[in-house]
Amino acid sequence: MSWISEHNKNWLRIVALTVILGSFVYWVERDILPDEYNPLKPLEISDEITFLTSNKINNLKGKYQDCLAILKNSGVKFEPLPDKTTGESCGLYNTVHLLQSDITYGGGITLKCPALVSLLIWEKQALQPLAAEILQQPITRVKHFGTYACRNVNGAPKGRRSQHAFANAIDIAGFVLADGSQISVLKDWGKDNPSGKFLAAIHKSACDLFTTVLGPDYNEHHHNHFHFDHGSSGICE
Ligand SMILES: [Zn+2]
Repeated sequence: MSWISEHNKNWLRIVALTVILGSFVYWVERDILPDEYNPLKPLEISDEITFLTSNKINNLKGKYQDCLAILKNSGVKFEPLPDKTTGESCGLYNTVHLLQSDITYGGGITLKCPALVSLLIWEKQALQPLAAEILQQPITRVKHFGTYACRNVNGAPKGRRSQHAFANAIDIAGFVLADGSQISVLKDWGKDNPSGKFLAAIHKSACDLFTTVLGPDYNEHHHNHFHFDHGSSGICE
C-alpha cells in the first residue's frame, strides 16, 4: 500500500490498536469473555490454558487463601499444611497436601499451593487431552521421585537451595496408562514413536504453567525425569 504515506500508516496503527484495546475492555466489563480469557476472573482448574493462565498462577504467590479457594472449588481432596521450618534454608510455607486427584500419584503429595494448582491444571488441560490424542487412552498414574527434599540444586554439597527445599517442585519419572502399559522418561524420551511424542508434548505443555521445566536435554541429572518448579529461573529445556 505504497499510496499511504508513512504518517498515515502510523495513524492507522494507532486507530487499529485503540479499537482492539477498546473491544477487549468492553468484553471484560460486559463479562462476555470466557473466564480463561478474562484477566479479572479468578483462576479455575477447569479453565483451558490461555495466554493469561501463567500470569494468574504467578499472582497466587503469597496469596495462600486465594490459592486454597481455587483448590476447594476444584473438588480435589487436599489438606492445608501449617508453615514449618524444616532445616537450614528449608521449609514448608503456604503448602498443601494433595490426598486425591483424578490421577493417582502413588500416595499423597506435598507442594506449595501455586505449584499444586499448576500441576492440577497440567493434569486436566494438557496431560489427559494429549494422552487421548497421542496414546488413545487416559493416564491412570503419575510416577514421581518426590516433591520435597531439603537439598541444594542437583544435590550438590554447595550452591543454592533447590526449589525442592520448599516443596515448590516435582520430579516426574513416568506414567501408567489405562491398559497397564508404562511410559518412562528414561526409556522413551527422544523416541520417534507415540510414547516419545507424548513425552515431548507434555514437557512442552508444562512450560506454559511452571516457571522452570527441565528434562533429559537439560543435563545428565535429568536423564530419567522431568523437573517442574515454581522458582524464578524461567527455563524450558
Ligand atoms: Zn527436581
